[in-house]
Amino acid sequence: MPPFQTLLIPADLLAAVVAHARADAPAECCGLLAGSPDGRVTLHFPIRNDLASPTEYLTNARDMLAASKAVRTAGAEVLAVYHSHPASPPVPSAKDVAGNHWGDTIVHVIVGLAGREPDVRAWHIADGAYSPADWAVAGI
Ligand SMILES: [Zn+2]
Repeated sequence: MPPFQTLLIPADLLAAVVAHARADAPAECCGLLAGSPDGRVTLHFPIRNDLASPTEYLTNARDMLAASKAVRTAGAEVLAVYHSHPASPPVPSAKDVAGNHWGDTIVHVIVGLAGREPDVRAWHIADGAYSPADWAVAGI
């Protein structure tokens, strides 16, 4: 499990994540959320999806390296990775589970765009399975 219980996302950063998902639709978007070890997100990094696919994503290696450096420079830690499901529920796909390189050290946030309103959910993915992760909008 990650070192924190609840991922806390400030409203402005959550809005930025949803805006990124909408901007990249109908392709999936992806990115990183970083912050303090207690789960409080302070940094948002959009990452290019090298597949530009509506059903899967591959984080651009150059963007990931730049984001990882910026996270370290800020003295922060990667807390979550996010991606979007433009046309399906925000539940991890078989590819999301199989392609998880992070173990259970971070939370996976998925933005679902299939409904009238964006549906944001968070998940733990480990050992070939997923389960809901606690998250909340910080400061409310
Ligand atoms: Zn997915």
